[in-house]
Amino acid sequence: MFRRARWLPEVVAAAGLVVSPQAWALNVERLEPAEQAVMESLLSTLEPVLAPKKADGTAVLLTWEELYAPLSPEQRGFLDSMRALRGADLGATSHYFGLFDGDAALTPVGPQTILKNGVPTPLDPQHLPRVVLAAYQRMMETMRQDLGKGLLVESGYRSSAYQLYLFLYYAPKHGYSIRETNRFVALPGHSEHGHPPRQAIDFINEAGINGEDHPEEFEALPEYAWLQAHARTYGFVLSYPRDNPHHTAFEPWHWHYEGSSD
Ligand SMILES: [Zn+2]
Repeated sequence: MFRRARWLPEVVAAAGLVVSPQAWALNVERLEPAEQAVMESLLSTLEPVLAPKKADGTAVLLTWEELYAPLSPEQRGFLDSMRALRGADLGATSHYFGLFDGDAALTPVGPQTILKNGVPTPLDPQHLPRVVLAAYQRMMETMRQDLGKGLLVESGYRSSAYQLYLFLYYAPKHGYSIRETNRFVALPGHSEHGHPPRQAIDFINEAGINGEDHPEEFEALPEYAWLQAHARTYGFVLSYPRDNPHHTAFEPWHWHYEGSSD
């Protein structure tokens, strides 16, 4: 699952292709109409691949092979160009962690249910490195003792291939601006969600208050105040405080694991 760049010769050979995929210049301020068109076609092609994976919770484990397999040479060339983008190309200072190539001992978080307007609603299945899951569970034991409630894992591990898909998925919602999209969705290799040595968790509370839909409400939660006071003890650190130097939006729900001292 963590293979680096070995996919392309395999995929090209398997498909019997001899053409070189076209490289795209990519206007990062706003994709050109032809670039927008191939992005839209690519999302349409991938939708039937991703839909069942989203439904059964395995989309976060998407491999490069699965991402590239259904694409035309033109779409593959576009994806290559997108995959080669780095934050530095956009003038962003976000750190490039690289594509993780180790054994993360990914472990299912298990069934999670929120009460959305009083209605029990299951969350999508999530995965975390085993040590991070154990640290999270220890932290929640104490939070429940202190507050009588805890936080759930809305988003844990995401493969680099899925991260690239997510970036493409959100780009049209940000006016096809790569630079603007990058303020909200990391490029592959730049996300702590895809980097188990610094694994990130996006938290959601038991009533369904999360970051994406309710950022101000999340910031006002007693659960968030508790994290600010105690998360470090369990090895978790807030990645993107307000006015952070990475030009990343303030994300009170996004914490990463650095390891605990005990
Ligand atoms: Zn996050």
